[in-house]
Amino acid sequence: MVRDIKSLSAEDLQAQFRSWNQPAYRAGQVLEWLYVHRVTNWDAMTNLPKTVREQLRANFSLHTLELVRKQGSRDTTQKFLWRLSDQSLIESVLIPANPALYGEASDRHTLCVSTQVGCAYGCKFCASGLEGFKRNLRADEIVEQVLAVERGQAEEPKARAPETLEVEPGTPVAIADRVVNNLVIMGMGEPLANYDNLLQALRILNAPWGGGIGARKITISTSGLAPQIRRLADDPLQFRLAISLHGATDETRNKIMPVNRKYPLSELTAAGEYYQKRKERMITLEYILIAGINDGLDQIKPLAQLAHRLRAKVNLIPYNRVEGLEWERPAEPVQEAFLAALEKEKVTATLRREKGHDIDAACGQLRLKTERELASDRVD
Ligand code: SAH
Ligand code: SF4
Repeated sequence: MVRDIKSLSAEDLQAQFRSWNQPAYRAGQVLEWLYVHRVTNWDAMTNLPKTVREQLRANFSLHTLELVRKQGSRDTTQKFLWRLSDQSLIESVLIPANPALYGEASDRHTLCVSTQVGCAYGCKFCASGLEGFKRNLRADEIVEQVLAVERGQAEEPKARAPETLEVEPGTPVAIADRVVNNLVIMGMGEPLANYDNLLQALRILNAPWGGGIGARKITISTSGLAPQIRRLADDPLQFRLAISLHGATDETRNKIMPVNRKYPLSELTAAGEYYQKRKERMITLEYILIAGINDGLDQIKPLAQLAHRLRAKVNLIPYNRVEGLEWERPAEPVQEAFLAALEKEKVTATLRREKGHDIDAACGQLRLKTERELASDRVD
């Protein structure tokens, strides 16, 4: 299979040009076209000789994402549904910065990206798992979600100072219209089940010549793949880790997350503890509140114990309804009582209270809806 140019590191590209007897600065030129100007075709790389462009075209692909559907406005959450070259559909969600969640106060945005088409883990409440697993995304397909969103925003009015990217060491190039400064790997799929492609993509998105997004501004969310959490702990980059807990006892977790039978809480907690010790970084425990399933006060003590052991904070997220599933979020007083009980146990916790859940819904739902509509079109 032909490699896509956006899955290469700067070193890979330099080695490629060396093998073609081309000067090293060619790599810098290509990187600038890809990550500063975000071009979508080889011919746009006008300072490369035509022969070099042809050589690149013959050896690498340059895929872009096709926008199928977009929901939301610039001031609110925007959902993007993309079509890949094999016709698969994936989603990204652009969220206006929320200081209380994953980043600091900012006029910028958090982008939630997908890592797989579908998901094999089959959590019972989740739209992404409903139609099973199709395939892993390649590194370039993960990188391209950021570039494609940035390209789209650049077409809209902009009003902020230029940022820079260091395409060649010591020679930063201005990029006028960056909007994504936080990344959360919480879209469709289980990121740690696509470990190598994810890490390759994140190295590119983090690199000063690439996306220029600080590792501390990148949060990886996992349903609890304990061995891969340990592997991530040993990686030199300082990514943030979020664990989708959704239950503080094996009994509760087993009801909704099949992955818990493979990696029960004892194993998951030990891996989380290893991560915390290696990185000395605060872990986030995601806890969706689902009525009658995991919102009982019996979860508070074990949850507090876990949070203290992992030195973690807890994000409580009222469940977003998924079409075709019977789950519901608890009433607001139940959510508030859960939060208050946790705080009483001296756990650092937040409860997501924003309105506008119509499009704020979790990733995977727009794809599911579109695929169902397409399927019914075919039947009609
Ligand atoms: N597979 C990874 C990352 C993608 S899911 C994981 O499970 O962590 C990102 C987050 O969205 C997870 O915490 C997941 O449990 C949550 N989620 C899934 N469906 C949801 C829904 N309907 N409402 C609220 N959160 C949901
Ligand atoms: Fe997969 Fe995460 Fe959804 Fe579970 S919550 S099915 S792991 S995407």
